[in-house]
Amino acid sequence: MRLVTVAEALERLRAQGGRVTPQRRALMELLARARRPMSAPELVETLRRQFPDMAADTVYRNLQGLVTLGAVEVFHMPEGADRFEWVTYHHHHAVCLDCGEVLCLEPCQEEQMPQAPAGFRPVRHEFQIFGYCEGCASETGGTEVPAR
Ligand SMILES: [Zn+2]
Ligand SMILES: [Zn+2]
Ligand SMILES: [Zn+2]
Repeated sequence: MRLVTVAEALERLRAQGGRVTPQRRALMELLARARRPMSAPELVETLRRQFPDMAADTVYRNLQGLVTLGAVEVFHMPEGADRFEWVTYHHHHAVCLDCGEVLCLEPCQEEQMPQAPAGFRPVRHEFQIFGYCEGCASETGGTEVPAR
């Protein structure tokens, strides 16, 4: 996996016969600039400052399109909304169990990950650290495990 530029993503979109609308372009630029995973509701809210009439459905559809293009990666969170992140380098995330913040980790050292068993053809892997972000840890003391 490697960095995809907005220009490249637009090119791929056109090559597939997709229309480059101002909303689509704004969504791409927003994600490419953010450099962190954002949830669809967060993206809708941000884009509406620029396009007040933008429908949430349109954003969801466009996000799906960007995932298909290979410009955006989707992370399924155990709790809460999926997160979408512009494709940069392969890396993992730390997830706050309290506020749901998702923080990007350093690039993954693939050779240091456990290897798949012989005969198994790996396609991808996921790894997440769960805990409390700085803000939440200082509020709660960070030692208590919430009752489930
Ligand atoms: Zn937190
Ligand atoms: Zn990330
Ligand atoms: Zn990895």
